[in-house]
Amino acid sequence: MTVFDDLVGQHHAATVLSRAAAAAGEVVAGGRGAGMTHAWLFTGPPGSGREEAARAFAAALMCPDGGCGHCDQCHQVLIGSHPDLETVRPEGLSYSVRQTRELILRAAGAPTQGRWRVILFEDADRATEAAANALLKAIEEPPPRTVWLLCSPSPDDLMITIKSRCRLVTLTTPATEAVAHVLATRDNVPPDIATFAARAAQGHISRARALALDEDVRRRREAVLAIPRSLTGVGECVSAAERLVKTAEDEAAAATAALNENETSELRKLYGEGSTGKGLNRGLVRGGAGALKELEDRQKSRATRLKRDSLDAALLELVSFYRDVLAMQFGAAVELANDDLRFDLDQLARSSTPEETLRRIDAIMQCRERLAANVNPQIAVEAMMLALRS
Ligand SMILES: [Zn+2]
Repeated sequence: MTVFDDLVGQHHAATVLSRAAAAAGEVVAGGRGAGMTHAWLFTGPPGSGREEAARAFAAALMCPDGGCGHCDQCHQVLIGSHPDLETVRPEGLSYSVRQTRELILRAAGAPTQGRWRVILFEDADRATEAAANALLKAIEEPPPRTVWLLCSPSPDDLMITIKSRCRLVTLTTPATEAVAHVLATRDNVPPDIATFAARAAQGHISRARALALDEDVRRRREAVLAIPRSLTGVGECVSAAERLVKTAEDEAAAATAALNENETSELRKLYGEGSTGKGLNRGLVRGGAGALKELEDRQKSRATRLKRDSLDAALLELVSFYRDVLAMQFGAAVELANDDLRFDLDQLARSSTPEETLRRIDAIMQCRERLAANVNPQIAVEAMMLALRS
């Protein structure tokens, strides 16, 4: 068993990475280690497990056995506590140049455990242009034992100068059976629910897991997919838009609250708040207020991002519905993502034309673009609902 066994449906990437990890081991032992590179770019559609693959590779770099999956080094990487692994997660809508510069300074240090210093940069596509330029410098002249692992949905999301310096690891959307198998064996999900969730999530592993294990998530999906049949009049379109925006906001708020509470109390503890206050260093208290303000700003920007992401996920769910309708209209022999809603799909497939379905999919895509361009969500979603109805 190795750390790469946990990657679902990514045999090719796993082979490439375990070979590279072996080469990295040669470098540590003083050899040449052909095939080892300092900058890697993990790409693949959302849910294909980019971060998981990068983390498995990080473990394989730290592990004396190339990623055995059970030693101390592997374990520390996988739970995120390894001193030589730094995971970078942009919490707001973008990643700033200041954050990147600080990161590059830390990345320059030698590994404490003697093997590699690994920086795992999630959502590297969210780096601002200035931040990307700073990053490029760091990748161009890497310290001998520093490895950069960048993750982004597609290689084209990064500047070409960065992309060209990275070795590319391309992940693919895992097959429904592979995802269902993992849910059944690793999470003890009953086979029929595992298949339903894997299908509905269309290869998005964590989404499939959430659908299989969390009833609230299943309910929200049902509510989103009930929209097409509810759009009988203008009033219904407006209220459907309200519901969709509200659901996305609630979902984001729940996620945000859980994250915020933890961070704020950690920070307060760090600055001594909640203790008796006796002999508390005044400078420290002032520093605490500044840090708290900074944390609140970051949390606010993350909340915005979560809200946007959650609404976007709901829109993609709607796209999957109309894509199924289109497949039925063309009699295409493909697996339906929303097989459980066959009745609804069939009705719409019979009562409309493929041209209409395509136009509806376009309306959803246009709404996504408008949201990305900061149009008021209620207005953008309302316009979409009206277009879905007509
Ligand atoms: Zn190990």
